[in-house]
Amino acid sequence: MNIAFISYWSCPLTPLGVLTAGGMNVYELNLANSLDKSGHKVDIFTRTHKQKDEISISVHKDVRVIHLPSLNNDDHYLAAQSFFNRMLEFIEKNSLSYQVIHAHYFFSGLVGIKLKKSLRIPMVQTFHTLGIMKKLYGKVIDEKRIKAEKEIIKKADGIIAATALEVKDLLKHYSAKKDKIFEISPGVDHRVFKKLNIKTSRTKLHLPLNKKIILFVGRIDPIKGINLLIEAVSILSKKYPSFENNFYVLLIGGDINSRKFWLDREVRKISQLILDKKLECCVKFIGSRPHYLLPYYYSAANVMVMPSVYESFGLVVLESMACGSAIVASKVGGLAYLVKDNFNGRLFKSNNVMSLSTILWELLNDKKQRESLGRMAEKSSQKFCWAKQALKIVKVYNKLI
Ligand code: UDP
Repeated sequence: MNIAFISYWSCPLTPLGVLTAGGMNVYELNLANSLDKSGHKVDIFTRTHKQKDEISISVHKDVRVIHLPSLNNDDHYLAAQSFFNRMLEFIEKNSLSYQVIHAHYFFSGLVGIKLKKSLRIPMVQTFHTLGIMKKLYGKVIDEKRIKAEKEIIKKADGIIAATALEVKDLLKHYSAKKDKIFEISPGVDHRVFKKLNIKTSRTKLHLPLNKKIILFVGRIDPIKGINLLIEAVSILSKKYPSFENNFYVLLIGGDINSRKFWLDREVRKISQLILDKKLECCVKFIGSRPHYLLPYYYSAANVMVMPSVYESFGLVVLESMACGSAIVASKVGGLAYLVKDNFNGRLFKSNNVMSLSTILWELLNDKKQRESLGRMAEKSSQKFCWAKQALKIVKVYNKLI
């Protein structure tokens, strides 16, 4: 089967954890590579983002990323319209033929509903995040986006939801038709994400062997709740004076070498909080890290914290589960789906800094608990395997063709 992915918002080849590049990119590449392994061909259409971008780049045997120029316009709704025209032109000019379109994120969905009409083929949508959830949890109000999502939901042939909760949200907040929705979670590449020795990992990463390490990994975005982690750590360093000299909080994500990063509103807010709480000694932005290095970081940390105010799935948590980390996550969205409190990790009530600090302290001082939660996390992660999830998605494609 030939499949056209639309990835208008972000190119899967850009460095992860920087600006808009995150879970969606990892999802697209892993799904495309798994589809390739089961004999399908995938073209991922995205916008040209560098001056000298090659138009077509092979990333796997039968997976290509195709860069198409788009309107250099701040109005993404207009630019998505022009991207649709470019995509159609490219497909016709190169006599390409696809059986199905799979759009990722709502801007791609807007392109997809036009393309499906022109090519007369079915279209599958994965939202990755939903505007209404961002409004409810992140207080980001974008009515135009929500309206666009509703239109996509009406016109798409199939919608892939990552969790039962996302299915519920689509039904409740978007009045989606139940028979269009397929619950298929993402997976994790267990060949990359596996438990490594803590000392070996710290030595490789030049991290001290004698400190407690608390880790955060992700895009630096208000939705990730990094401020909650800083506040929680500040409580601990005030309450337990010995703590201050004995821990590091490593914040992975963002391009720390660019001026733009330090001018970003969220980065400035977090940096100020670190200064106010006098935590410059121990809380560090260390920038984004290549995907293949993350298993070392997950294994080097004593505790991995995901304090998001909302998370539709949370690949970082799944990856660190696969590495046997002791995880503390907020009880929201996909995080509450992946982590069962006191079984394979710990959950704290979203936004509750006191609860986060209490759990952190408990875990940092209880090696046995960390190890047993980590073991169960590793076990629980086994059912999330890309090869299996990709087959479920192929079934959806076949059903709609
Ligand atoms: N990631 C990475 N390097 C970084 C930061 C993030 O490789 O420096 C990857 C991470 O491994 C994960 C993805 O980016 O696969 C983030 O996905 P998640 O679902 O946690 O968050 P999202 O970006 O979708 O909000």
